Amino acid sequence: MNEHDPRYDAIIIGAGFAGMYMLKTLRDKGFRAHVYERGTDVGGTWYWNRYPGARCDIESLYYCYSFSDELQQEWRWTERYPSQPEILRYARHVADRFDLRRDISFDTNVRAAAFDERAGRWTVRTDDAEITARFLITAVGCLSATQTPDFPGIGTFRGESYHTGRWPHEEVDFTGKRVGVIGTGSSAIQAIPVIARQAAQVTVFQRTAQFSIPAQNHPLSPEEQRRVKADYARLRAEARMTQSGILAERLQHNATEVPAAEFKAELDRRWAIGGTTFTATYPDTLRDPAANELSANYVRGKIREIVDDPATAELLCPHDHPIGTKRICVDTDYYATYNRDNVSLVDIRHTPISAITPGGLRVGDRDFEFDIIAFATGYDAMTGPLNRIDIRGAGGLRLREKWADGPRTYLGLASSGFPNLFTITGPGSPSVLSNMIVSIEQHVEWIGAHLEHLRDNGFTRSEAAADAERTWGEHVNAVAAETLYPRAASWYMGANVPGKPRIFMPYIGGVGTYREHCREIAAGGYRGFHLTV
Ligand code: NAP
Repeated sequence: MNEHDPRYDAIIIGAGFAGMYMLKTLRDKGFRAHVYERGTDVGGTWYWNRYPGARCDIESLYYCYSFSDELQQEWRWTERYPSQPEILRYARHVADRFDLRRDISFDTNVRAAAFDERAGRWTVRTDDAEITARFLITAVGCLSATQTPDFPGIGTFRGESYHTGRWPHEEVDFTGKRVGVIGTGSSAIQAIPVIARQAAQVTVFQRTAQFSIPAQNHPLSPEEQRRVKADYARLRAEARMTQSGILAERLQHNATEVPAAEFKAELDRRWAIGGTTFTATYPDTLRDPAANELSANYVRGKIREIVDDPATAELLCPHDHPIGTKRICVDTDYYATYNRDNVSLVDIRHTPISAITPGGLRVGDRDFEFDIIAFATGYDAMTGPLNRIDIRGAGGLRLREKWADGPRTYLGLASSGFPNLFTITGPGSPSVLSNMIVSIEQHVEWIGAHLEHLRDNGFTRSEAAADAERTWGEHVNAVAAETLYPRAASWYMGANVPGKPRIFMPYIGGVGTYREHCREIAAGGYRGFHLTV
């Protein structure tokens, strides 16, 4: 393709929920847009994460688009929390329903993108082509760059090994197998109970114990669906203005102000409801160490109640971070799984995995033999998916070099020095702290309106101003510092990737506050952006 291919106004990278809606939005506004997707189908996260037990922990009725009332009314979810296959079916339905596939190239990796100052266009390089467009929009997700630790001997294992985020399309048969699971984050916590029901033996290698709340998943009754669908417009509007894009019962008084018996009764009730909103019960839980410790202690008590072997229970009790400051996990039978005879837990905090071996792995001088190793070792979150593409802005500035000390963005949507580049749910936006679909819809609609504004006013170039970016970055850091989040060695902080700068990457000021701020910036003629003809 020639370098000044005039076919596209915008190139979108990724055909997950962000990329699909971005394509539809731009198409509806009369822009010519095209999507490049490395998978063979739509779905993003839900295309790749096929590990046993994979399920979203945002409720089905809200983990779906709200832009089309017909779509949200007609689609029928079967459970409170949607399983990966069901979400993937939904994504495919959306692609078919809005005829999106004709503008998506699958099986296509975007390797690099460079801004051509003279032409005012982005040149995007895939494995075998170069394409240009005025605008480049990344819809690459926040948790799509898998992270496999660089253990010595990693390639020598003779059995099967899989990362949860690159799980095979064919079913993995664990029957009669000895399975090692490395990691105890959200993915592992979902997978372990399911694998344990099939495998001969499961050994879990835990570096950091995690707080997990029961999902209390259940089939959705027709009445429940009807009730929500009848009131969708109001419920969605309300969710958009909350802290996390999730409707939750939030108490106004602090945990530290209530008598112990009342506190326990309330958390018992929340435990029975289940889900991520457990830590949203009291406003001080994620701000005041004393309040946090009350909730943390409650969960530790539950772990000790559930797990029969006291030594295993103690090992499963987290002590090194405030509850909620590493992404809270949601499970079905996770802790109880350690009561099974075929499941054991190995502490690798003090004696780490020293090598992967042809037969399994080694911890200190102990050798473990496995048929299958599951790496549930997480992601180079938020910046990883962008930095793995060689993105070069004005004057050849490389995004990964600009971000060497941590990401710098304006609103998580744009970065100075990178004109006409927009990052859906980028670092510096609420993204991973929210219902991703709520944040995706807000970003996509904002970017769509912005491009329309540029076209209608004869502008060809939009670039975040350096001072606006600096002020936003200071604000992102300041609001994070008011919380307990920076106290954890979490992926939010970049702490799980050796050498990655430690900065709290998402914006914790709240989805509603953020939305309003973005709206005001647009209403004021896109304050903080240099718009030029
Ligand atoms: P994760 O939360 O980052 O967990 C990775 C696990 O691997 C941690 O236990 C980590 O230990 C361990 N690990 C990493 N490197 C290691 C090493 N070198 N040696 C030993 N252990 C190592 O990743 P994840 O479980 O895939 O989840 C990532 C995020 O995806 C979640 O936080 C959530 O936002 C999302 N997610 C959501 C759902 C859901 O909706 N239910 C399900 C899955 C994932 P440390 O803690 O010590 O680093």
